[in-house]
Amino acid sequence: MYEKIDMERIGKFITEFGNFNSLPKPFIILEPNHYYYLLNHFTPYETEFRQIIDHDFGPYAKNTTISWGFDHGLGIMMPAEWKIVGDHCEFKTMPTFFRFGCDHDYQHSTNLGNCYNRYECTKCGFTKDVDSSD
Ligand SMILES: [Zn+2]
Repeated sequence: MYEKIDMERIGKFITEFGNFNSLPKPFIILEPNHYYYLLNHFTPYETEFRQIIDHDFGPYAKNTTISWGFDHGLGIMMPAEWKIVGDHCEFKTMPTFFRFGCDHDYQHSTNLGNCYNRYECTKCGFTKDVDSSD
């Protein structure tokens, strides 16, 4: 499974990839509204599934889906106790929402021509190229 993940790109903005039973680091826990806001501005390159065993999140393995996008990841950890009732899902507790990766601080680094510029994160070194076309 891991060989399909583009570690050359993702490895620049995470410090620890973790494994099938652990979370990538760094991460922050998001309020649901923040998660959905980020999701609306996010195109995942790849999505993976893990079963997290971490007592900070309770005694049971938690099914967790992680999607990796341009410069961060987003994840949902499902509560261990849930059931399908009719056409919907009932949880005893809410899912936990995550943002994975550096909290980037982009600074302009290079003009690549006209309105085409490179920005580099002062924390992790990840770069993004932006063509503002104006
Ligand atoms: Zn960064």
